[in-house]
Amino acid sequence: MPELPEAETIGRALDRALRGRKITAVEVFTPAMRTPLLPLRSAGLEGLEFTGVRRRGRYLLADLSDKRVLLMHFGMSGVVRVENDSVPRRKHEHVFIRLDDGNIFRFECTRRFSMLEVHDSGKDGIPESLAGLGVEPLSEKFTGEYFFAAVSGRSVPVKNLLMDNSIVTGIGNIYAAETLFAAGIAPDRQGKNLTLEECCRITECAVKILKLAIEAGGTTISDFRHVDGSEGKFVQNLQIYGKAGEKCSRCGTVIECIRLGGRASCFCPGCQK
Ligand SMILES: [Zn+2]
Repeated sequence: MPELPEAETIGRALDRALRGRKITAVEVFTPAMRTPLLPLRSAGLEGLEFTGVRRRGRYLLADLSDKRVLLMHFGMSGVVRVENDSVPRRKHEHVFIRLDDGNIFRFECTRRFSMLEVHDSGKDGIPESLAGLGVEPLSEKFTGEYFFAAVSGRSVPVKNLLMDNSIVTGIGNIYAAETLFAAGIAPDRQGKNLTLEECCRITECAVKILKLAIEAGGTTISDFRHVDGSEGKFVQNLQIYGKAGEKCSRCGTVIECIRLGGRASCFCPGCQK
């Protein structure tokens, strides 16, 4: 599932491809998704212009010239492409939004858990359905003090707290694992047992890793692809995610894997305390 760096990467490419383009037609091929796609047909999108693409957490918001937004989330296997109309429709491409430059914005999802909806842009430009999202990790609000206050008193493993979208949005299994490795904190430490100093280390490491991952175009593990079909290169920088049984790059201890909140969680027993 794309996390923040992957969504940011897709969003930047979509912004370049969609900004200033007018919508000429909307085609929906697959009505039966988790969130229905048919409303797109009658949303009156034809003739509107895309004025830009923004990100909030793992969501992308393509702004429309009538102050509405096309809100998208990639679920487990969502892919978007902007390609010429000479390329035939792929089996799992469910929506075509035709553009005035002859390209098509294509929405693909093999497992049908993605989302593409038109919303009013709402207060501060953010649709109401996203109002409950926590702070952006790359905003100045995501400080050690903030994270300390959010997790203190919680009998929940820190890794789950870092992945809790109501606290901080956009961090999933990959970047939570990498952040805690960089910070030297064991993923099963409970929120209530963390010190302010440790929370500062966690937020600083998270910001650093997310920025590096954005520079590398995100991490491709399985389904994530760039808008042009290429892969994210941060996979080469992973230190702990998916490395169970390998030796820690920092101390040489064999990396272990536990399950937290149903998710595999790799960590180094040697340098994560
Ligand atoms: Zn280690």
